[in-house]
Amino acid sequence: MAKAGRGRCELCLRDHVERTIHHLTPREFGGGPEDTSKLCIPCHKQIHALYPNSELAIRLNAIEKLQDDPEMKKYLNWIKKQPAGKLPRIKKSGYRRL
Ligand SMILES: [Zn+2]
Ligand SMILES: [Zn+2]
Repeated sequence: MAKAGRGRCELCLRDHVERTIHHLTPREFGGGPEDTSKLCIPCHKQIHALYPNSELAIRLNAIEKLQDDPEMKKYLNWIKKQPAGKLPRIKKSGYRRL
């Protein structure tokens, strides 16, 4: 996962977030270095959690297509309310501090 520095996430459009390079067309499907976008880390994780590379390559190979996908829309509505500075908390299952 290549770092891209801080700035605006191209997907959720939050500013001043830590970003990483996402290949809109996965490299294994012929995507080149120009076919990338800079996404915040939660967006990037969410994309790869929801869709296999084969689906990204065929159906979701552009930012606008990702933003239009119903599953991503739900996520984007949520992430836009999260502050840019901190990463959303990932729940660890089976552990409770009392
Ligand atoms: Zn984002
Ligand atoms: Zn990616």
